[in-house]
Amino acid sequence: MKLNLIGKKTEVPGVESFIFQPPESLHWKAGQFFHYVLHHRPTDDRGSDRWFTISSAPFENVVMITTRFTEEKGSTFKKALANLSVGDSIEVTDIEGDFILEDLTQDYVFIAGGIGITPFHSILKELDHRGEQAHITLLYGNRDEHIVFKDELGGFAKSNPQLKIQYIIAPERIDIVKIQEFVPDMQKPIFYISGPEPMVDALGTSLRHVGVSEDRIKQDWFPGYQEE
Ligand SMILES: Cc1cc2nc3c(=O)[nH]c(=O)nc-3n(C[C@H](O)[C@H](O)[C@H](O)COP(=O)(O)OP(=O)(O)OC[C@H]3O[C@@H](n4cnc5c(N)ncnc54)[C@H](O)[C@@H]3O)c2cc1C
Repeated sequence: MKLNLIGKKTEVPGVESFIFQPPESLHWKAGQFFHYVLHHRPTDDRGSDRWFTISSAPFENVVMITTRFTEEKGSTFKKALANLSVGDSIEVTDIEGDFILEDLTQDYVFIAGGIGITPFHSILKELDHRGEQAHITLLYGNRDEHIVFKDELGGFAKSNPQLKIQYIIAPERIDIVKIQEFVPDMQKPIFYISGPEPMVDALGTSLRHVGVSEDRIKQDWFPGYQEE
């Protein structure tokens, strides 16, 4: 299936969103992702396909990619993506992913590293639109004060008093001590972790070490990024 680009926007310096119109009405769950193919020449050894979470919410009926661009050693794929103009298309294959909320009666802790906020943005925006509330603590680590979706997240927290957001800005890091600071009962919530692979792996391991059971940990790994 091909999606047509209908708009672009700068979220914060270095982070752009690309908004695509699907040819037909799509059904997906907030937190899921697409596999994208963008043929371009020349193509570096990282290839012409990538995975991106759909950062928009299902009710919006558009597919948004939100991604970070690096000044050094950026891929040819990202250059081709940046060069897309409105009206250009990108190829996608099936929607996948189980990084979704299934039971709103549970407590959740969402842990985002930088651009790993994308699935949480989709989930929280969809909940907000539906007027549904869940007990969620979002711990959002970032490299600096340029925080992607900060205003929108603040709006979601205003309409959902059960949503607590904590920003952790470098040089501070999200680690197990920080998590325990904001999560009084570690055995109660379900933990969702999304972001650069090293961070997601390290936090998953730390949670298991303090006794959080496997069925209470969900991880979404973004390859190609270093720790936030
Ligand atoms: C399920 C899933 C969902 C995802 N969702 C998102 C999302 O919502 N947003 C998002 O931004 N990403 C997401 N990703 C990650 C995305 O697919 C890319 O891996 C990521 O954006 C990095 O892109 P890039 O490889 O084009 O590198 P770039 O972003 O262009 O570069 C990133 C850095 O990678 C380093 N690097 C990595 N490999 C090499 C190499 N072979 N040679 C030289 N340097 C290298 C460079 O130092 C560079 O600074 C997701 C991945 C998965 C699996």
